[in-house]
Amino acid sequence: MTVTRFAPSPTGRLHIGHAFSALFARRAGTRFLLRIEDIDRGRCRPEFEAGIYEDLAWLGLEWEQPVRRQSEHMAGYAAALARLDAMGVLYRCFCTRAEIAREVATIGGAPHGAGAVYPGTCRHRSPQDVARRLESGAAFALRLDVAKALHISGPLEWTDQDAGRLAAVPEKLGDVVLARKDFPASYHLAVVHDDNLQGIDLVTRGVDLFEATHVHRLLQALLGYRVPDYWHHRLVVGEDGQRLAKRTGGTTLRDLREQGMDADKILKYINL
Ligand code: GLU
Repeated sequence: MTVTRFAPSPTGRLHIGHAFSALFARRAGTRFLLRIEDIDRGRCRPEFEAGIYEDLAWLGLEWEQPVRRQSEHMAGYAAALARLDAMGVLYRCFCTRAEIAREVATIGGAPHGAGAVYPGTCRHRSPQDVARRLESGAAFALRLDVAKALHISGPLEWTDQDAGRLAAVPEKLGDVVLARKDFPASYHLAVVHDDNLQGIDLVTRGVDLFEATHVHRLLQALLGYRVPDYWHHRLVVGEDGQRLAKRTGGTTLRDLREQGMDADKILKYINL
């Protein structure tokens, strides 16, 4: 038996890429779970969550109940975070986005934009400096000290169904955020925690999240979580999606439905 899941964030209506991802997960497993990744309350909306159920049902998908909604499990993420903190692999980061961008630009060489690796500015702040900042009420995120964590875990590997057995290189992503300034969890922490808790055997998701898996493998080792296999699939947003958008005026599944497209046509278009 293989348990898979589809884990969308209700930050907008589903588009054709999501349909591909959901169907991919359904076909890769024997048990199929749906998880609503709604920890970022500022961006998530109930109507988008309702849209997810509507669109998936329209595609002919069925999923097990109850659906796990991350916003209802913040205590679980806090407990995982506390365990990591007790291992000494977390540090407080007071940097703003602008400060990080400036620092990265100053150092040079590092990739710019959203993909930039955090330069480690707050990693070695003195206890006095941290205390002063906390006293002044400065907001902070919690970052994973990847070098320290790797020291504890030792070398790690993971498996992707297409790419094969890989050495984990979490340094690629740098010291990722595990608890954000605005709410006490992050995608990396919540996804690893939930995949373990829900007994997911095979994590299927877009290849855009391939590099994140390196850090997920490290978190699994630190927290003693089971290690699923992975299968990162191609993204269906390119040419086909755009052509479809031009012809129909949009690529959300609701748009396509309203243009008279039926689910069978979508399935054919996706061509899994
Ligand atoms: N919630 C993530 C997204 O919508 C997917 C997470 C995952 O599949 O690991 O992009």
